[in-house]
Amino acid sequence: MANYDAIIIGAGPGGYVAAIRCAQLGLKVACVEGRETLGGTCLNVGCIPSKAMLHASHMLHEAEHNFAKMGLKGKSPSVDFKQMLAYKDETVEGNTKGIEFLFKKNKVDWIKGWATIPAAGQVKVGEEVHNAKNIIVATGSEASSLPGVEIDEKIVISSTGALELPKVPKKMVVIGAGVIGLELGSVYKRLGSDVTVIEYMDVVTPGMDGEVQKTFQRMLKKQGLEFIMGAAVQGVEATKTKAKVTYKLKKDDSETTVDADVVLVATGRRPYVDGLGLEALGVEMTQRGQIKTDDHWATNVKGLYAIGDVIEGPMLAHKAEDEGMACAEVLAGNHGHVNYGVIPGVIYTHPEVASVGATEEQLKEAGRAYKVGKFPFMGNARAKAVFAGDGFVKLLADKDTDRVLGCHIIGPGAGDLIHEICVAMEFGASAQDVALTCHAHPTFSEAVREAALACGDGAIHA
Ligand code: FAD
Repeated sequence: MANYDAIIIGAGPGGYVAAIRCAQLGLKVACVEGRETLGGTCLNVGCIPSKAMLHASHMLHEAEHNFAKMGLKGKSPSVDFKQMLAYKDETVEGNTKGIEFLFKKNKVDWIKGWATIPAAGQVKVGEEVHNAKNIIVATGSEASSLPGVEIDEKIVISSTGALELPKVPKKMVVIGAGVIGLELGSVYKRLGSDVTVIEYMDVVTPGMDGEVQKTFQRMLKKQGLEFIMGAAVQGVEATKTKAKVTYKLKKDDSETTVDADVVLVATGRRPYVDGLGLEALGVEMTQRGQIKTDDHWATNVKGLYAIGDVIEGPMLAHKAEDEGMACAEVLAGNHGHVNYGVIPGVIYTHPEVASVGATEEQLKEAGRAYKVGKFPFMGNARAKAVFAGDGFVKLLADKDTDRVLGCHIIGPGAGDLIHEICVAMEFGASAQDVALTCHAHPTFSEAVREAALACGDGAIHA
C-alpha cells in the first residue's frame, strides 16, 4: 500500500496530462492504466494512428493526382498495406514511449492494471489498495453501436478495427458521417475501397456550420465517397466474409440493402466507467452516462474528480488535456480554468475542416446581430500553388462591437489556421485586430486575415 496526494485513473490525454501537471506542482502522484501502453484512446487507437493513416493515404492521393501536374513523372506508388500499418504502429509506439519517458522524468508512478475505487480516497489495483487524498477519474470512452448492429472487429468494425484491417476492403460501408467516419472513410477511399457513407441526418458532421457542411460533403463526393443521407440503419447481417446493411430512408420509409466487405460503425462514443464501482460509491451520473461534475471537475463524492471523455462536453483530446491541467491546479490548491467557449474542432481530411466558437446557425438562433467575413482559398496564392484553392475561411463577428464570435475554415492547413482565431477570441479581439495584424506572404493564414478584412471594409484579393 502506498499513500499519494493524487491518483489518476486512466492515462489518456486527460489522465497523463493531469498526472504530469500534479507532479510539476509538487504533488506525490500515481497514474493507473489498464492498457499495456500509456496514452489512452488518443495515442493508441484514436487521434495518432488515424492521422498516420490519413497522412500516408494523402501522400498516395497526391502522387496519383498532382505529381504529374508538377512535372513529377513515373509510376505512382502502390499500396503495401502491411507496411503502412507498421508505419502507423511505429508512430504510435514512439508517442506512447514518450509518455513513459515523461512519467519517469516527472516522477509519476505508473501503476499497471485496472483500477476500482472501493471507497472514497482508495484505489484498488489487483490486490493492492492505495490511499489518495484526491482521485481523478479519466477513464475515457469506448465506441458505441446501434441496436441490431454487433461489432465483431472483423467484418463489422469500430474505428479500432479500422486501424487494424488485414487488407484494404473492396467495398466499405461507413455508418455515421461524423468526424471519425469521414476521416477513416476517406483513408480507405484513397487506398482504393469503394466507400458509401450512410447518415441518419440530412447533413454531414452534425453541429458544424451549415455552409461548411455543404462544401465539405461536396468535396468528399468529388473525391469519390458516396453518401446516403437521411437514412436510418435497421441492422447489419454479417457472415465471415461479407455484410449486408439494411437502412430505411426517412423521407418515404423505403427499405434498401447494401452489401459490403467491411462495415465501419462510426455512430459515436460513450463514456467508459465499467468496473470502477461508481454506483456503490453513489457517484452522480448524467442521463447520458457521464460522470456529473461541478465547474471544478469535482463529483458529488469528496475528493473524487473526473475529466475528459467520461464527463460532459466535446469528446476531444485537447479538451481532456485542458481539463487535466486545470484539475491538477485545483488539487494543488490553485485556480484551474477551461474556457469551453474556445475549444477548436478539427477534421483531418483533405482539405481539413476546423471551427471554433459560434456557428452562424447558433448566432441566428440566439438572435445575435452579427456580420460575416468570408474569403475563398481561390484568392490565396499559396493555396492555388498547391492545388488547394477549394474552400474558404468564414469569420463571424459581433455586428456592433466587431468582437470575433466564431470561425469556420475548410481548406489547406485549417487545423493550424484556426488557432489564430482561438487566441484572438481568448483575448476578446475584434475582427479588425486580426485584419490589422501583418500576416506573412505567401501563407494560407493570409486567407484568415482577408476574412477579417471582409468583416470591415472588404478583402483585398476577392
Ligand atoms: P482516453 O484517451 O479514452 O483514455 C482513457 C484511458 O483510461 C484508457 O487508456 C483506458 O485503458 C484507461 N482506463 C479505463 N478504465 C480504467 C480502469 N478502471 N483502470 C485503469 N485504466 C483504465 N480527438 C481529438 O481531439 N483529435 C483527433 O484527431 C481525434 N481523433 C480520434 C480518432 C479516433 C479513431 C478516435 C476513436 C478518437 C479520436 N479523438 C480525437 C478523440 C480522443 O481520442 C478522445 O477525446 C481522448 O482520447 C479522450 O481522452 P481521455 O483521457 O478522456 O480518455
